[in-house]
Amino acid sequence: MRELLRETANLAADFLESLPERPVFPRVELADLRARLGGPVPDGPIDPQEVVRELAAAGDEGAVAIPGGRYFGFVIGGAVPAALAADWLTSAWDQNAGLYVAGPAAAVVEEVAGAWVAELLGLSAGVSFAFVTGTQMAHATALAAARNHVLNEAGWDVERDGLVGAPRIRVLAGEKVHSTLPRALRLVGLGTGSMVPVAADDQGRMRADALRDALAAGEGPTIVSAQAGEVNTGAFDPFEEIADAAQAAGAWLHVDGAFGLWAAASPRFAHLTAGAERADSWSTDGHKFLNVPYDSGVVLCARPEAHRRAMSVHADYLVHAEEGGPRDQMDWTPEFSRRARGFPVYAAIRSLGRSGVAELVERCCDHATRFAAGIAEIPGVEVLNEVVLNQVLFRFDSDERTQVALAAVQESGVAWMSGSVWQGRQAIRLSVSNWQTTEEDIDRTVAAFASAVALG
Ligand SMILES: *Cc1c(COP(=O)(O)O)cnc(C)c1O
Repeated sequence: MRELLRETANLAADFLESLPERPVFPRVELADLRARLGGPVPDGPIDPQEVVRELAAAGDEGAVAIPGGRYFGFVIGGAVPAALAADWLTSAWDQNAGLYVAGPAAAVVEEVAGAWVAELLGLSAGVSFAFVTGTQMAHATALAAARNHVLNEAGWDVERDGLVGAPRIRVLAGEKVHSTLPRALRLVGLGTGSMVPVAADDQGRMRADALRDALAAGEGPTIVSAQAGEVNTGAFDPFEEIADAAQAAGAWLHVDGAFGLWAAASPRFAHLTAGAERADSWSTDGHKFLNVPYDSGVVLCARPEAHRRAMSVHADYLVHAEEGGPRDQMDWTPEFSRRARGFPVYAAIRSLGRSGVAELVERCCDHATRFAAGIAEIPGVEVLNEVVLNQVLFRFDSDERTQVALAAVQESGVAWMSGSVWQGRQAIRLSVSNWQTTEEDIDRTVAAFASAVALG
């Protein structure tokens, strides 16, 4: 076992050391990958070392350089060293982090890491939390808590009676809501038909006046979903006004802060999230700005009783902790058995410290600003967003040129990012979310676009 793990560690280090040189998107053919990795179920056992060696060779060929400094796709973080190492330990320990009795250290680390996350995000000490796979499941958990609370207020016990016959819940969300929110609504049985779109401005921010109008136009149990960090522009909704309106209407306020909520951890950017702390629930990710390896999401809730009512589970064969005793994570998460997701989050925060988290956020945002300045100098380029955080949205002077330039940069292997559609036109979106990105990485990426247009 020791030899296998040692060799695996070396293979992993080889991959990490190859990041600066390898094409960011691998030059690989789907058919080749299928041929190398496929085949029938092996008839009998194969030596583990051979299995890992073969997998490392083929996997390496088909891996995107996501942990490296020139991957700017979607909103995807890397992995800080302590978090990566702690993630390995998580697998070696193989705790079932559902119950204290199946992993006492895992339960205590989640207790600590959850409180740390809340503090870094500027939330009050009493919030409840759960470590889930990502913002998608954080939304589902938060909406289950919200559903419990708003229906409870209406005299309906949704945990017992479900939604059939329940008062209809309306969900007011900005028209630039992330696609995970409607899916979470489907998962918790509210359906996308419960959504009332609220107009957004040219940066994708929900308009508070439109929210007030929408709130006034209806009644009954209500959830408002706001956003810290629009996925294209990085824009922040006006939380103070939104919180005032939600509060006046007695609505539950949820905040999608997948990456943007981490602005609160930086004294330079915290003003962007002002008022978000007044929400009832928040979703965020460890695997974006905090640079915890996949998968890592966190849900936090200012109404622990609703959160717990929505998630708690009991069975006679389980060993549940005493009231006021240690934490049984399964009372807060949608999972039953689960990976001890708190360890890498804990290690990331402990290794970075408060100043390190702030610096990580600030460095990424400074790189985005540098990129925006550099790319704007290329003739025909227009930066479409106010670069308030780590996202840059830009385009060339026609949709065709935008697509050609993006494809050329992707094919060059220098960098990788994806396209988007913004106000009906093709755009390119760059997200700087990796602790490894340097100024040189940014300059090389700008240069790759410059030579792409020179060629085109
Ligand atoms: C990434 C993202 C999500 C989805 O998060 P996952 O961790 O991929 O589930 C939701 N909302 C926003 C704003 C995001 O950027």
